[in-house]
Amino acid sequence: MMYRFPLEEFKQWPTPFYYYDMGLLSKTLNEINRQVKGYPYDVHYAIKANGNPVILKEIVKNGLGVDLVSGGEIKASLAAGFDPGKMVYSGVGKTDWEINLGLDHDIFCFNVESVPELEVINELAGRRGKTAHVAIRVNPDIDAHTHRYITTGTAEDKFGINIEMLATAVDRALKLPHLHLRGLHFHVGSQITQMKPFVMLCESVNGLLDYFDRHDIHFELINVGGGLGIDYDTPDINPVPDFQHFFDTFKRHLRLRRNQRLHFELGRSIVAQCGTLIARVIYVKENRNKKFVILDAGMTDLIRPALYQAHHVIQNISAAVDTASDVYDVVGPICESSDVFGTDEKLPVTRRGDLVALRSAGAYGETMASCYNMRPLPKSHFSR
Ligand SMILES: *Cc1c(COP(=O)(O)O)cnc(C)c1O
Repeated sequence: MMYRFPLEEFKQWPTPFYYYDMGLLSKTLNEINRQVKGYPYDVHYAIKANGNPVILKEIVKNGLGVDLVSGGEIKASLAAGFDPGKMVYSGVGKTDWEINLGLDHDIFCFNVESVPELEVINELAGRRGKTAHVAIRVNPDIDAHTHRYITTGTAEDKFGINIEMLATAVDRALKLPHLHLRGLHFHVGSQITQMKPFVMLCESVNGLLDYFDRHDIHFELINVGGGLGIDYDTPDINPVPDFQHFFDTFKRHLRLRRNQRLHFELGRSIVAQCGTLIARVIYVKENRNKKFVILDAGMTDLIRPALYQAHHVIQNISAAVDTASDVYDVVGPICESSDVFGTDEKLPVTRRGDLVALRSAGAYGETMASCYNMRPLPKSHFSR
């Protein structure tokens, strides 16, 4: 059964635009809160997945914290009403103004990715007469087996500190006078659909906790990052990701110490399924062996197919259900050969003016939009 979009409303709005199902977002957030209730777990929303203010308001309302990767994101999350006491700030290249902004707002934790960064945060905190709260990001050398560009936890990646250098970094953090070390941070990748990498992560954390216990070093928190994947192939069958399986994996495999809290930073799994990119067919063009559906949305509106070879379900939502079908390459108007949403897509016979939905586009969609070819940014609309 096909998801029902409000077609009458769509006809009034210029395309392309993002459409967000706020009911589904709310349902997703309820499910997360239901799964962590009664556990010493804190969930932060990775705002880089989608920074739309309407989305952020809903997430704030549901009590989540926020995971940030830039000064701009600190500002956006403050404007949206996130509590600085629930803000964690990651990223390999935090600049001085960004660190100072975090210090001025007394954010909960900087997830620090190198010893030089520890030194700089210590110095900037000292100048302000403050103590910076930090966690050290560990690179656990786990291959999450997703796309190379979204794997972050193998030894070759730029992220985090290698395990063999961790003890030195922890020592340094404990000695620096303007730092308070809260714990360890991890994030192994994105769009992870098997639990195996998360189990390996738990085992890695357990080993490190044992090691630091022996050295009488105790952490108040462990942050395992995000990365839970979603079902891009059949969004109507799995509109809400399997959070039960995800959180159960940590409940079962991670041996938290007494009074220790477990933090999560989920992005994609919270917002991906509630968002759809709606485009209009500009032309249907026939070449020698191919038919092309040319949309008014392109890689500037949704770059995931061009950047990661990702695929979003494509639906012609104007065509009647019983129309005959044909096979098309569905492409955008941008002057790049990678501006392709799908090849050999089976669609109802498609005509100029039809509306097309690119599903599961709520994460890393609108937020990655650009003005390349001097195009305007896509607008957004919300279910009522
Ligand atoms: C991007 C990112 C996340 C969120 O990843 P998802 O795959 O969207 O859940 C979490 N933590 C850090 C440090 C990140 O960079």
